[in-house]
Amino acid sequence: MPDLRIGDFSVARIEEMLTPGFAPDFLFPDYDPRILEAHPLLTQPGFRDAASGKLMSSMHAWLVRGRGLTLLVDTGCGNAKKRSAPAFQRFVDLDTPFLERLADAGVAPDDVTHVVNTHLHIDHVGWNTRLESGRWIPAFPRARYVWGAVETAHWLDGGAGLAAQPEATEVLADSVRPIRDAGLVDLVEDGQSIAPGLTMRVAPGHTAGLMALWLESQGETAVFCTDVLHQPMQIYRPDWNSRFCEAPDVARATRAQLLADAAERQAIVLPSHFGAPHGGRILRRAGGYAFAPLAA
Ligand SMILES: [Zn+2]
Repeated sequence: MPDLRIGDFSVARIEEMLTPGFAPDFLFPDYDPRILEAHPLLTQPGFRDAASGKLMSSMHAWLVRGRGLTLLVDTGCGNAKKRSAPAFQRFVDLDTPFLERLADAGVAPDDVTHVVNTHLHIDHVGWNTRLESGRWIPAFPRARYVWGAVETAHWLDGGAGLAAQPEATEVLADSVRPIRDAGLVDLVEDGQSIAPGLTMRVAPGHTAGLMALWLESQGETAVFCTDVLHQPMQIYRPDWNSRFCEAPDVARATRAQLLADAAERQAIVLPSHFGAPHGGRILRRAGGYAFAPLAA
């Protein structure tokens, strides 16, 4: 996709992987296949792999540049990570050219000023670190890593997240704790700004402390809403949670609020896993919302 311009900022997508992901009836326990007939947009090749019926799944970082900032929103799965849980096997020992793609966009690791981890799940923190001489070191050593205070408490140091999902232990060990140990973390609360025009807002439910990043500049708005929306079909069925959402009722309420806010503000929605073209606008329609994907 071409770079987007949001006022004084540019936004580019740095791909890690783009593949068919989950079958819809696995990802969404409430899935009803009639949604594909009702909304043919959802069957376009960017969103659904016709051969397998699986939903297209992107792993990417959003690169935001402007006003002296070079900021990454979420960092995918990372290379060379060991994952023992059966559900994590697609993320084992990856060897993707993510840093080369970042370089192709004109960004060296030392150029990155901020890394925002919207939440601390396996597929959002991987490129926080890289392996060097057998040790996990910060991949962006000059950056401040921005994490939600609630999310951090949820996963680290005996929080409820880790108690419920002990398989996250190895993710925290190789991709989260080394950043904290290096003193690179800035914890943020709801409504806190990273810089003028960039505001973190709580969006809980998928995880306890997930935060979305809102970008506003020159009257234009984008929202990096991460896993509040896994797939475009949730714009038509905001009541469908993914099986990975921790608190179902909270996640539904957050999704409803996000869609209302994004439609009201005509924001470009830039989630973490939508297939091509990876983002778009939310339109109000009778009884709900519709999706207007970005031009390819
Ligand atoms: Zn995710």
